[in-house]
Amino acid sequence: MVLFERAPAKINLSLDVLGKREDGFHEVEMIMTTVDLADRIELYTLEKDRVEVSTDSQYVPNDERNIAYKAALAFKNKYQLYQGVRIDIQKNIPVSAGLGGGSSDAAAVLRGLNRIWSVDAPLDELVELGAALGSDVPFCIHGNTAIGTGHGEKIRVLSSPPPCYVVLAKPDIGISTRHIFPKVTLDTLYHPQTDEVIHSLEDKDFGKLCYHMGNSLESVTFPLYPEVERIKDKMLQTGVDGAVMSGSGPTVVGLTRHFSKAKRVYNGLRGFCDEVYIVQLLDRR
Ligand code: ATP
Repeated sequence: MVLFERAPAKINLSLDVLGKREDGFHEVEMIMTTVDLADRIELYTLEKDRVEVSTDSQYVPNDERNIAYKAALAFKNKYQLYQGVRIDIQKNIPVSAGLGGGSSDAAAVLRGLNRIWSVDAPLDELVELGAALGSDVPFCIHGNTAIGTGHGEKIRVLSSPPPCYVVLAKPDIGISTRHIFPKVTLDTLYHPQTDEVIHSLEDKDFGKLCYHMGNSLESVTFPLYPEVERIKDKMLQTGVDGAVMSGSGPTVVGLTRHFSKAKRVYNGLRGFCDEVYIVQLLDRR
């Protein structure tokens, strides 16, 4: 049997680091939504009790280190399933980009196995399994637009953003979130106004959303990788209404109401930066 799942990229509209917990995790508050840049996951059931994974990307492991493999194993263990699955991943989301590609693949595997093996586990159980795999996985299971708190495992669905075009720009570097968080200095950190971002979503107020979007981690990533800040500046100069770094970077997200403006920004960034995309929001409730 074969099943296809789409694993869309996530973008951050805000990311605040509130503090550090005793267990070493940082307490975060992040507003996320998904866009129509997605990996494609194919699941094939196997007779043998084993998990196999393959991808078309040189940057992603084809073995038990792949987060999609870990998700399948966690699902099999939780529901005591002695069947096998082959996972083929077509990577379209840039890797180590702040776009949650691995997390979205893991979420898609959990959703897909839940269907293909007719387990019918409730969403909350999948979220709990996902939280053990990575802090963006719970959001990727929910999709839509949501705020994640704790270390990302507590999810509350929010109103959808006003319609707009999204420009994604990524320089030719990969950043691992695990390397950025230890460099956070809490006393000097910038904090976005998360409540105002929530209000702007509720009011469908595009201008207010663009004004209040923000990411605490910019103050860590920008000094380490100045090209990321240059991309943000260039985006704002060439016409986006708001721009913010996604996750721990290096992808910068720019929002604009009009396709013509998005195209102008896209043209201005190509040649200046490695990968540029114009995408749309998936959440159109
Ligand atoms: P993170 O916050 O984990 O850094 P990210 O969204 O910036 O997330 P990902 O594209 O998820 O970055 O990749 C992070 C790391 O996870 C990379 O080192 C990559 O090799 C590894 N990885 C394992 N499995 C996958 C997968 N299925 N897709 C992408 N990366 C994966």
